[in-house]
Amino acid sequence: MTRTYIVTGSASGIGAATAELLRERGEKVIGVDLRNADVEADLSTPEGRRDAADRAVELAGGSVDALIACAGISAPVPLTVSVNYFGVTEFLDRLAPVLARSSAPRAVVVSSMASLQPNSPELVQAMLDGDEAEARRIGQELADQGPQVGYLNYPSSKRALSRWVRRASISELYAGNGIPLNAVAPGTVLTAMTRELLATPEGVAMVDASVPMPLNGHSEPVVIARLLAWLAGEENTHLAGQTIYADGGADATLRGDDIWSAVQA
Ligand code: NAD
Repeated sequence: MTRTYIVTGSASGIGAATAELLRERGEKVIGVDLRNADVEADLSTPEGRRDAADRAVELAGGSVDALIACAGISAPVPLTVSVNYFGVTEFLDRLAPVLARSSAPRAVVVSSMASLQPNSPELVQAMLDGDEAEARRIGQELADQGPQVGYLNYPSSKRALSRWVRRASISELYAGNGIPLNAVAPGTVLTAMTRELLATPEGVAMVDASVPMPLNGHSEPVVIARLLAWLAGEENTHLAGQTIYADGGADATLRGDDIWSAVQA
């Protein structure tokens, strides 16, 4: 039977590839983005998130089977925290009760291998506390110190998002409603987000030094789309709270073979 998917960030990159793949498979997709989408909305504000969720459900005729949250930015400013963390978590929480009415509800978000990079623990905590004003204050303090420190807004947003996924996935709202909630963490994907960075050999060398991808190198967005589609599909019944690093081996290279000892200590 045809399933109905809400896909954010549907106008470009990973979100566009995901919407296209699902439509090719005969599924119904409601795209959400700033422009060129079924629902044009700004996920960086609380009103924009509420409005986007309500209009998407209306377009879906009140019935939604899966949510795939791809919208995100990597600018070295606090707006990144609003879009990447609150623009995902508040949007999902508002839609979870609607998803719960589906016979096979699913939710997936796009984190990043940047969730493993150095971040601001204070900023991560403010996000997990649900305090957007405080998170933006800390994010602005970082941005004021220049783009290199300001970049911490991005890995912090993705670390917080992957941690939120673990917490929320086992809550009443998600597990209690039979909704598997997980994240995909791409390595370097060839989209608008990375185009400028990868335009020079120096840029490529810098990216590859921080995101080593021994398996098949940089990926096309459809690679991530296929995994998102599986996680949001009916076959996925028991994956909960995971961040799946679809990163050509970057995680295994950077963290090595033992990521469990810290848990035992
Ligand atoms: P992209 O720039 O091609 O697409 C991002 C989309 O999000 C755009 O269409 C944009 O309009 C939309 N968006 C941005 N701000 C928004 C807002 N306030 N409200 C609504 N929509 C908004 O980038 P992409 O590479 O496809 O990124 C998709 C996701 O993948 C992001 O969450 C990003 O952090 C993550 N990611 C990307 C890479 C990569 O290498 N490209 C790697 C790891 C993670």
